[in-house]
Amino acid sequence: MQRRQTGVRMTEVDLYKKVLLIEGENKQIDICIEEMSELIQALLKRKRGLKSNICEEIADVEITLAQMKLTFNEGTLVEDWKAFKLHRLAELFGYKEEA
Ligand SMILES: [Mg+2]
Repeated sequence: MQRRQTGVRMTEVDLYKKVLLIEGENKQIDICIEEMSELIQALLKRKRGLKSNICEEIADVEITLAQMKLTFNEGTLVEDWKAFKLHRLAELFGYKEEA
């Protein structure tokens, strides 16, 4: 993959904020839905033994999900849910919390 020289240093979050500001929340929601369905398609192709671009689609989903997180996260709500769900998953798979 080639990297473009922008001449401007910006963080990933700065970029996502700019995209959201220029394109708008609703358009980025549509793009996120589109990217998630492309990942679904890639995964289904893989299951059928066809060539698929799963890694590219995972990257697209991560990028658009990061924008959704910037848009919808309230405080640490996403992180809190993630911690809760990881804890539950760990329990389900036999990991015990250390004292
Ligand atoms: Mg895509």
